[in-house]
Amino acid sequence: MKPTWPSCHNKIKSTEIKNTNKKGIFFEVECPYCQTWIRLNKTQEIIKAAGISLFLITSLLNIFSIQSEYSLVFSTVGFVGIFIAMIITFFGKHEATK
Ligand SMILES: [Zn+2]
Repeated sequence: MKPTWPSCHNKIKSTEIKNTNKKGIFFEVECPYCQTWIRLNKTQEIIKAAGISLFLITSLLNIFSIQSEYSLVFSTVGFVGIFIAMIITFFGKHEATK
């Protein structure tokens, strides 16, 4: 992930990020150059969390074989969920928190 900082427009490698902050489902990172904090757009963060939850829930349902006749459906839904979460992680719009 190489976000371009909205405040200083530097391209930041994930290895250069030293300070991160987790607020519930929201994940903030600090720019090593200008010390501003950015996070994913709130809507995207919620969709991402929903996608990951969907993946976890459907995976658990398949593991415990609850309603196993639907296991293919669960796998498909779970895959779509994690796919959406990945898309947002890599292409999501970041914004400054202040
Ligand atoms: Zn910056």
